[in-house]
Parts: sequence; C-alpha cells; structure tokens
Amino acid sequence: MEKLAINGGAPVRKEKLYYGRQWIDEEDVKAVSKVLTGDFVTCGPKITELEKALADYTGAKYAVAVSNGTAALHCACIAAGIGPGDEVITTPLTFAASANCILYCGARPVFADIDPETYNIAPKSIEEHITEKTKAVIAVDFTGQAVKFREIRALCDKYHLILIEDAAHAIGTKYEGQPVGSLSDMTCFSFHPVKTITSGEGGAVTMNSEAFYKKLVLAHTHGITHEEEEMEEAPHEGPWYYEQVSLGYNYRMTDFQAALLLSQLKKLDKFAGRRKEIVKRYNEAFESLPEILVQKEIAESDTCRHLYIIQLDLAKLSCTRREFFDAMAAENIQCQIHYVPVYWFPYYQHLGYKKGLCPNAEEVYQGIMSIPLYPRMTDEDVEGVIYAVKKIIENYRG
Ligand SMILES: *Cc1c(COP(=O)(O)O)cnc(C)c1O
Repeated sequence: MEKLAINGGAPVRKEKLYYGRQWIDEEDVKAVSKVLTGDFVTCGPKITELEKALADYTGAKYAVAVSNGTAALHCACIAAGIGPGDEVITTPLTFAASANCILYCGARPVFADIDPETYNIAPKSIEEHITEKTKAVIAVDFTGQAVKFREIRALCDKYHLILIEDAAHAIGTKYEGQPVGSLSDMTCFSFHPVKTITSGEGGAVTMNSEAFYKKLVLAHTHGITHEEEEMEEAPHEGPWYYEQVSLGYNYRMTDFQAALLLSQLKKLDKFAGRRKEIVKRYNEAFESLPEILVQKEIAESDTCRHLYIIQLDLAKLSCTRREFFDAMAAENIQCQIHYVPVYWFPYYQHLGYKKGLCPNAEEVYQGIMSIPLYPRMTDEDVEGVIYAVKKIIENYRG
C-alpha cells in the first residue's frame, strides 16, 4: 500500500490544486481595458448589451445585471413582494445567501428537506411545509443540476406561490431542453469567480414577466425611475427630473464587469463542455467504489456542473471526513465542503431554528466533499485527483 502524504509519503501532486478557479484570458483583459479607457465606467452600453445577451442565452424575455448573486436574490424577493409575515420555503443545503435574502425582506425562511440522492430540494417536503403564510419557493439548482422543476412548478401553481430559482450554480444547464433562466418566475445567477463564468463580483436576474421586470429594475437602482409613465407627478418640472417611487438599493454592475462577463459568456459552451467531460471521467472512476456515493443525476437535467461532490460512506471507512479532507490536502488537493446546513449557523440558531429539522440534509452533509472541478484542469490534474481519492480509500478501507 502506498504511504499517504499525511503520513510522510510523497504527495500525488507537486502543486496545490483548488476545488474551483476562474479562467480569464487575454481576450477578456482586452475587453475590460477597452471599457476602462472609454466614456462609461458604469451604467453604459455594455450593461445593455450584457442584459440582452443573457436574455438571449437563457431564452428569458428580460435580464437585469446586478452587483452580485446575493443582490440578485434580494431584488427577486423584493420584486416578488415578500415581506413581514410571509414564509418562503428553501433548502438548507446551500450557500447562506439563498435564505438570507428572505430575512432581508423581514420574512421567515422555512427549510424543506432534500432528496438524499440528488441533494436537491424534495418537492414532497416543499408541499409538507406549505402554510397559508407561504408566499414563495426559492429552489436552488445545487451543483448545477436543475431541480425537479415540473413538480415544483405544479406545487407553486396549485398553492399560488412565486417560484424563484437560485441558479448561482447553474448557468449553462438545461431542463428538458430548456435553458435554466427561462423556467421560473425569476431566476438568479451569480458570477463570482468560482462560478462557471465570472465578472469578479456579479449577478443577474432573468424573467418573463414585465411586472416583475419593472419592480426588479427599481429595486436594483434606489427605486428611482426616469420613465415619465412610471412617475407620480407628471408633467414633471424639467429634463433633470427623476422620481424615487419605491425603496431600492444600489445593486448595479459596472460596465467593465459587464464587458468581462460578455467576453466570458462567449466561452460558456466551451467551459460547460469541459466540465461535462471531467464529470463523466469522475463518475466512471467513482461509481464502482463502494466507499463513495456519487450524486444522482436526473434525466431531465442536462447539467453544466459547478461542483463535483463525493459522498463518503463513512461506515465503510476507518477515517473521519475531516481525516479524509486533511489527507487530500496533504496530497496537494484542496477540497471544500458545500455546505454546512444553513440553519446550523449560530445566527439561525439564535433565531430559534433547531438542529434536526432536515434529517436528509444533515445526514448528507456529514459525508460530502467537493473535489476540484473547473474547465482549465488538465487530464493529468483530473487523474491525479482520482488517484489521490483511491489512494486514501485504500489506506482507510474497512
Ligand atoms: C454563490 C452563491 C450565491 C451568492 O452569490 P454571490 O455572487 O457570491 O453573492 C447564492 N446562492 C448560491 C447557491 C451560491 O452558490
């Protein structure tokens, strides 16, 4: 048996490999610097161009670019009219922002449990948590795999709920052939550097409803309008006049970020293709290992995967997840855990959420680990990760 690096053996890799990484090239840099030396650094033509490109790519009628994915979620909640007294159902196995946006609006997050095989929110559990206070569902396409959209849409229609999709992981994914972004009432994207395409910080909301679109535009720019037909006091005083008609925020994206994202968007299909290749290779390597459970893929989702998760079957291993994680790091492979169930955090505990709420999510959380996945990984990088996982399993088998 080969000695683990953590026990003094030679590491599988010489250099550290991280779980995710952006891919920005010369073309991207040129696109940004052109905007930086031009007339508009923010609120210029690149934003308009980006919003059109995002609408085209996703097949949605409207897109609004915003400063980050969290702002996208907050604006969507505002546009949905979520407020004090409302409940919004979401998943605990997500980044905190998926639930925090509900709290920003003074409403209460209600956590529905996940399907233990796909890790996505379970429609059945959503239904069990619906009350007369429920206003919306925030469904997260976890790791990039589309949620059970058809079932969730049917529930939302039946109970008159607004469906917001947190697609921070899922740009490039299709559900039954339709791009994510065109399906839900509002779909929120993030363009943080670990996500599939990046603008540094950045986000967007796509939607088909003009009413949501108008509210979203106001929410992301102070609630201020320059459109005469939206003003209350017309005819207005003069060409300088604008009106604040609601309470909004400054959640705008800059023009040079939009230029970067437009340039990245051109490469999305290439990035998605490479991600798919790596996922396929990982699946082949891990599906036959009894110590590892691989995330189940649903046929409806043609997935551009953001994360690749291995779930350790700890009953078959003589190590803890922490020992496995540290052993990977010693082999120079930096994994990450996505995610601690949101309501386990002290802030949520202080709000009164109790551990044990969502047993599937808590159980899955104990064994999961995200291994490196990003398009710039070479075949050698991928094989190194597989080799390290197998080496560690061999040392801790039984
Ligand atoms: C990254 C992420 C967000 C937040 O996006 P930011 O751009 O970092 O604000 C929201 N939800 C999920 C599921 C995410 O992964």
